[in-house]
Amino acid sequence: MRKKVLVLGTNFAGLTAALAVRHELHGDVDVTVVSPDRKFLFTPSLIWLPFGKRDRDDITFDVVETLEDHGVGFEHAAATHVDPVARRVTLDDGQVLGYDYLVIATGYRNQTDVVPGFAEHAVTITTLAEAERTAVAWQKFLENPGDVVVAATQGAGCFGAAYEFLFNTSYQLRKAGLHKDVKLTYVTAEPFLGHFGIGGLPHGESLLGMFLKKEGIGTRLATPIDHVDDGALVLGDGEVLPFAFGMVVPPFLGQEFLLASTDLVDAKGYVKVRDTYQSESYDDVYAVGVAAAVDVPWQTPTPVGIPKTGYPTETQAHVAARNIAAQVRGEEPGDHKEFGDIPAVCVMDAGNNGVIILADKMLPPRKHGILIPGPQAHLMKLGFEKYFLWKMKHGHTQLP
Ligand SMILES: Cc1cc2nc3c(=O)[nH]c(=O)nc-3n(C[C@H](O)[C@H](O)[C@H](O)COP(=O)(O)OP(=O)(O)OC[C@H]3O[C@@H](n4cnc5c(N)ncnc54)[C@H](O)[C@@H]3O)c2cc1C
Repeated sequence: MRKKVLVLGTNFAGLTAALAVRHELHGDVDVTVVSPDRKFLFTPSLIWLPFGKRDRDDITFDVVETLEDHGVGFEHAAATHVDPVARRVTLDDGQVLGYDYLVIATGYRNQTDVVPGFAEHAVTITTLAEAERTAVAWQKFLENPGDVVVAATQGAGCFGAAYEFLFNTSYQLRKAGLHKDVKLTYVTAEPFLGHFGIGGLPHGESLLGMFLKKEGIGTRLATPIDHVDDGALVLGDGEVLPFAFGMVVPPFLGQEFLLASTDLVDAKGYVKVRDTYQSESYDDVYAVGVAAAVDVPWQTPTPVGIPKTGYPTETQAHVAARNIAAQVRGEEPGDHKEFGDIPAVCVMDAGNNGVIILADKMLPPRKHGILIPGPQAHLMKLGFEKYFLWKMKHGHTQLP
């Protein structure tokens, strides 16, 4: 009997894992993907959506056709419960699906209660719906400008997006002729500029400092946020930063339904994994992408999270696919790659400029790490968006 692989989630992690398992086993396996969303979303472009540079159709595509073309089934539903002992997953449409191997790739949700007033008074860009709400807020801001705050709260890990949005905001303020009149402030939990939640990279702090100085952006480092009022960010030390537009990046959590599977997940709902991306407790349950837990290896005065970016997500999905294929063939899972040992490959966009970020490892100790600033980084990001959407839409997950 052909083995059944069930994949929960169909974005970077889920789509890659589903197609890669089929590829590894030359199609001799039944793969089904479950997701409440039929669309693949290229999350990195959410930084541009509020400024009207992208809309949802530019950065999404329907995954069902892609999956069908590659012989993968699709259930348009949300998983509501995983029973790893009975090897069953319950869906919100009442179905119960059995599996031989399960891949949990359900990503993140915003921790909306991170600070009081975040959900009511701030906007964010971490989901498509939120980025669209932010686009409306930006239009209102342009009609009635005032000071702007971009912030990453205590516990946040997605600092790259915060910086990108900050520099894109500065660029847009210039374009709108508002740069001289608007005070732009960056509030972050990072202990120093360019920490990025990965401990920083050589010359990162000075480079980011230079960028911020050139743009006239004020900073509050290692700063917790106490709460968000209507039109003001109130910091841990009592300082009040009034804003006409306030974009705040919160921490992420794993999906709520996973919390009931206490032997699978940590307190945040992330699946505890080994370096094979098998769950710590079950050999036939895998987790990849944001859904997989990563321990923060340091303590900072204000807590910071880990950025679980696209490149490590894809790497984990391929490692999991190879290990599932090995298990299906009756072998031991032999592919091992700790999150911290996966290379860091990222482009930070700054509107018409940017920084290419490369390091031999996501987390220190590292041998190499380099930041390459310049307009070519912006062009690279534009090109990469088109390439990546093409690659995923056509299911070419074996390409880099
Ligand atoms: C604004 C922003 C900018 C970013 N920029 C970059 C960047 O420039 N470079 C970079 O490398 N990374 C970037 N990232 C990080 C990148 O988006 C993540 O690495 C990537 O989204 C991880 O993919 P994932 O599939 O693990 O999770 P997600 O993208 O969160 O996908 C989760 C999937 O699970 C599905 N799902 C959710 N709940 C259920 C359920 N109950 N049952 C079944 N399915 C479910 C969802 O519908 C979705 O398909 C950025 C992130 C953000 C928010």
